[in-house]
Formats: sequence, structure tokens, C-alpha cells
Amino acid sequence: MILVFLGPPGCGKGTQAQYLCEKEDFFHLSTGQALRTEIEAQSPLGIRIQDTMASGNYVDDETILELVEKNIAQLKVKNVLFDGFPRTLDQARSFEKLLDRQGKKVGIVAYFSLSDEVLVERIVGRFNCVRCGRVYHDKNNRPLVDNVCDICGGTQFARRDDDTAESLKQRLEKYYESTRLLVDYYKEKKVLVEIDAGQTLDNVTKQLMKTLEPRLSDDKE
Ligand code: AMP
Repeated sequence: MILVFLGPPGCGKGTQAQYLCEKEDFFHLSTGQALRTEIEAQSPLGIRIQDTMASGNYVDDETILELVEKNIAQLKVKNVLFDGFPRTLDQARSFEKLLDRQGKKVGIVAYFSLSDEVLVERIVGRFNCVRCGRVYHDKNNRPLVDNVCDICGGTQFARRDDDTAESLKQRLEKYYESTRLLVDYYKEKKVLVEIDAGQTLDNVTKQLMKTLEPRLSDDKE
């Protein structure tokens, strides 16, 4: 199944993606994470996009599509979770053509809706394990043992360069200007399900699994 996670920055889609991929057989493609990896490696692409990303602007569609094609070209897995892609109408249309060439289409778009006030609080408190990338939050999602990652035991944590108040303002503007339009786009295609992302992490996971489980078991038959 081709699953897309759509929603504003800080809505918790990355965290839910981690849970889902630990539980179910999904290949997780986060374009944001793929770009951060390019920046860490200081590849030509990484160097070219690092300022754009730190400022909270979107990376151009062409670069994003190249990145997606590169990441899914060799994939043999059946289930892929796209997290943070597509983010513009042009990306969505090109994505459709790309999938079409492989005889596939988007199965479900999970739209995580959340108010701006909660988004700001969630983003400002978040941090991640440097070794495995697991995301935590100062208030509502701390590691079980302080300063030790639940997943890999790593003890070094970091905050994203674009998780500042200024960059967040820009990211929210871009979201409302470009990405929010995809809600109607996928609603018309009858693949959109809305998830109330304002609840506790566990309840959001439950809501998501309730939506996905019937579809996942259908796909396994
Ligand atoms: P994320 O990790 O999904 O919050 O993405 C972090 C940043 O990566 C965004 O603010 C953009 O600068 C860039 N980015 C990630 N995915 C896309 C995309 N599909 N289109 C444009 N820019 C993207």
C-alpha cells in the first residue's frame, strides 16, 4: 500500500510513522529526513539546500522529486509510507505519474489536523536521538530513562536547526499556502482520512491503526 502522511509541521506525523514502521512492514520515506541526511553528509545537494531548509522554506519540487525517485527506484517492498511528501500540488501530480508508471496509486492519505497553538508547543519541545533519529518531546514523550534512547540506547540528543520560532513561522506559512491545498485534492480522490492529532500520542496511534488495520489485512490476503 502507498500511504501518505499529510499535516502541518509538528502535528506528530514523524512520530506516528516511527510507531507504524516498528509494528508493520512499511518502508518509511521522510523527505525531510532524507534531506537532513544529505546535509549531514555535506553532499552537493545538501550544501545547496541547507540554507533554504534552515529558514523554513520549501526545497524546490524538482529536487524533491529526484530525491523520491532515487529512494524508491530499487524498492522491492509492497508498503511504502511517504512522510512529508507530497507537499505541493505539482509534487502530488508528478507523484501520481511516477506511481502510475509502476502500476501503483496512493491508497490512503492520513491527514493529521491540529491547531496552530498546539503545533508551536510541540515543535519547540522536540528533540531526537543523534544515533537513530527517534523523536522525543520535553513534556509529552520523554525517553523511559532520562538521557537514554529507548530504541538504540544512544545518549546524545539534538534539536533540529529549523525548530526555531522564526523558522516555524515560515514553515506554517508555506504549509497554509501550498500543502493545505492537498487536503481537498485528496478528498476529491476519496483517499483522505482525517486524524485528530490533538489527542495524546497513544490515542492518535489508536485512531490511525483503526483506520489502517482493515486496509492492511485486505492487502495481506
Ligand atoms: P520535515 O522533516 O517533513 O518537517 O521537513 C523539513 C524541511 O525539509 C521542510 O521545512 C522543507 O524545507 C524540506 N522538505 C521536506 N519535504 C519537502 C517537500 N516534499 N517539499 C519541499 N520541501 C520539503
